Amino acid sequence: MKKKITVIKGDGIGPETIDQALKVLNCISDIYSHSFEYDYALLGGECIEKTGVPITEDTITKAKSSDAVLLGSVGGPKWDSLPANLRPEKGLLTIRKELNLFANLRPALLFPALASACPLKPEIVNDGFDVLVVRELTGGLYFGEHKTIVQNGMKKAIDSLEYSEEEIKRIAIKGFEIARKRKRKVTSVDKANVLDSSRLWRDVVHETAKAYPDVELEDILIDNCTMQLLKCPCRFDVILTENMFGDILSDEASMLTGSIGMLASASINETSLGLYEPSHGSAPDIAGQNIANPIATILSAAMMLRYSLNMQKEADAIESAVRLVIDNLYRTVDIITDGCKKVTCSEMGDKIIEALKI
Ligand code: NAD
Repeated sequence: MKKKITVIKGDGIGPETIDQALKVLNCISDIYSHSFEYDYALLGGECIEKTGVPITEDTITKAKSSDAVLLGSVGGPKWDSLPANLRPEKGLLTIRKELNLFANLRPALLFPALASACPLKPEIVNDGFDVLVVRELTGGLYFGEHKTIVQNGMKKAIDSLEYSEEEIKRIAIKGFEIARKRKRKVTSVDKANVLDSSRLWRDVVHETAKAYPDVELEDILIDNCTMQLLKCPCRFDVILTENMFGDILSDEASMLTGSIGMLASASINETSLGLYEPSHGSAPDIAGQNIANPIATILSAAMMLRYSLNMQKEADAIESAVRLVIDNLYRTVDIITDGCKKVTCSEMGDKIIEALKI
């Protein structure tokens, strides 16, 4: 298969980790006879340095005409004092909006060999866990009307929470489709005992589920879900939820893995186009030292293969290679423990390639 990927290296450790992901993708293209064409584009601090703005039309055009976008992290202290519309984050918000990325996927994957990094008791997580939070990203409370009025001489703040059937249906379809590529279980999270928007959410999710009889569906209230994640994360496969609940749950789930350098993420739209990026930032404190953990970016590339390029076995191969390298005790500095072998960012990339070739 021939695929075009827009590559944005970004700032700080972004170029270092993206280079490792590209090495891995090149290895995949050799093994499986694919052809990946990389179209490089600017966003964030590097873009500000070269063009004066955090994103350009050129980047948006390239992204829209590609099969997927692979992005390193952006930002850094150099650009922190710029006005909001000129800061690196503005570039991120713009590309997400331009590509209409309404579904955010945040995996929380704990490899059994890294169980000691998890803050939960060993007996709960000894076998690891693999949870994917599918979060609606462009609706709900964060996009409703926000206002503060004065009533009887007192300030009153109002934030409105709206969801339409259409918005719920499209994210529900994504959740069920994704579950079909995993363990075929969807846990839909809402607050249907209190909120109208949640009751509509539950109705639409159940209606959508009729087209996916092979996927198990369970409902859970948000408050119970936060507890169950701590009690037994391995009971979950896909957690499907609205914007604010997803914001909180994806952070809670990711904390359970114990290391930010391992966490991938994706944002996708109604077509197969998606933006794939590590969950971590540009880590200016370690940039340029070749010590960053590239696994989050490499696992983001694996998600890109699975969800945008429809290359399931290639994605599985990368994830298995990462697991093997971890099992063989190779660790970057952020996840090192006694008895493990310390590797640099580029050495970790090399080890994953070696594992892919076995
Ligand atoms: P950060 O994620 O960059 O770093 C937090 C800590 O984790 C640091 O100690 C860092 O060294 C460490 N860390 C992060 N990724 C690592 C990796 N792959 N390997 C090893 N260690 C890693 O968060 P921050 O310090 O709050 O933010 C730094 C910059 O990144 C800021 O400018 C912020 O705006 C930006 N940022 C960008 C994104 C993004 O691009 N999506 C996300 C978050 C923060």
